[in-house]
Amino acid sequence: QGDTSDSVELQKDKLLGGLIADGFDERSCRSRYDSLKYAKGLSGNPSSYLVSRLRKYEALHKKCGPYTESYNKTVRDLMYGHLSESSTCKYVVWVSYSGLGNRILTLASTFLYALLTDRVLLVDPGVDMVDLFCEPIPHVSWFLPSDFPLNRQFPDLSQKSDQCYGKILKNKSTTDPMVVPSFLYLHLVHDYDDQDKLFFCDEDQTFIQKVPWLLVKTDNYFVPSLFLMPSFEQELNDLFPNKETVFHFLGRYLFHPTNKVWGFVSRYYQAYLANADERVGIQIRVFDTGTGPFQHVLDQILACTLKENILSDVNRKGDIANSSGKPKLKAVLMTSLSSGYFETVRDMYWEYPTVTGDIVGIYQPSHEGYQQTEKQLHNQKAWAEMYLLSLTDKLVTSSWSTFGYVAQGLGGLKPWILYKPENGTAPDPPCQRTMSMEPCFHAPPFYDCKAKRGTDTGALVSHVRHCEDMSWGLKLV
Ligand code: GDP
Repeated sequence: QGDTSDSVELQKDKLLGGLIADGFDERSCRSRYDSLKYAKGLSGNPSSYLVSRLRKYEALHKKCGPYTESYNKTVRDLMYGHLSESSTCKYVVWVSYSGLGNRILTLASTFLYALLTDRVLLVDPGVDMVDLFCEPIPHVSWFLPSDFPLNRQFPDLSQKSDQCYGKILKNKSTTDPMVVPSFLYLHLVHDYDDQDKLFFCDEDQTFIQKVPWLLVKTDNYFVPSLFLMPSFEQELNDLFPNKETVFHFLGRYLFHPTNKVWGFVSRYYQAYLANADERVGIQIRVFDTGTGPFQHVLDQILACTLKENILSDVNRKGDIANSSGKPKLKAVLMTSLSSGYFETVRDMYWEYPTVTGDIVGIYQPSHEGYQQTEKQLHNQKAWAEMYLLSLTDKLVTSSWSTFGYVAQGLGGLKPWILYKPENGTAPDPPCQRTMSMEPCFHAPPFYDCKAKRGTDTGALVSHVRHCEDMSWGLKLV
């Protein structure tokens, strides 16, 4: 599963098996339909239940979206601290936070939570979301309006906020029942504490469900823990009979590059990747301090790609490859903040022939030097690069990187993941093929809500496992 070879061909199906809603203006977002020119079809078919739930969600979003009658009413209630039992629309607001890869994963997580709880997802546009992503819901925006009354509080939302669910739990008296507030802040950032983590308990969800407005700040793909909640179990089973397709389907439903970003993707693809017999993606993300490039990382990339037969070795003694027939053309897309790895690998395949006769071209779209989360063009390029990586046939990614998770998930690819180097040494083996195309939840709770004690949440069910690249993380398989 997850390979090109067995991905279901839906090339002619513009709407990806019903995943994408009809009724958009094609020119305003070319990527939505043009993506099939380059992208493979989906890896597997979305369940008919998922498709019907998405259409139902779209209807709810249309009814409750920005400036609808229901929206205006619930915003008024929010301003006056008035709680109306009858309010038909409930919301979850995703607050823009963290690097782009993280944001894509958290947005998908929050959307799934909205789907499960019949809430409408509204997206804080932050500084760059509008320039990066097309609207995914027909006819009505998913962006939170700029006059939303709590907008100015977003930067200050933290565990110390009075409306923070964890803090409310800490302060609550044991005897009085908790008052339902007009809004709640859910702190699901990696540094969250035991009380914040009770978000993942059914009992707490029963209370949270009563609150009309939820504001969520998170930098984690928290989907795996939703799969451990009994109240969501049946629904998730019906939505995703194949559990490793959650991000793949939700990602392809939600994230369509804007025309600007699509220009970056399509021009690059046509210039460097389209004519190859095989496309390989190598995503290098180094979390060590210091700028690099590092020799041990370079060694690791080569060790992995040669050992796993992703790239062919070069013959350092030969001048001309003695291959019969037409050589295979491999295009390798490398992404990294630094240009050092790319230059060395590119030169290697220029200076020496391969032992197989393959012709190998190495390409890297940008080398931005360092992370610049607030810069517009920087993130447009980062998004284009994640998307380009998703269009490859074989993918190598770096441990711990959400940038790589996005690429593998959108592409429906099971990557080879480079183990994290320790103390400046490349691990042996250098990489491993992942169990599934799903992203890893880096900071999951280890709590048994029923027994009210700690537990290994990676050992409860067969479809939620510890990740290959982070022993305490959780992923769906
Ligand atoms: P993570 O830190 O690897 O989990 O990924 P994030 O996307 O959340 O944050 C890293 C940010 O650094 C990205 O959003 C980019 O802005 C930048 N970045 C990291 N690696 C690359 C890369 O290979 N290419 C580009 N263009 N930007 C990168």
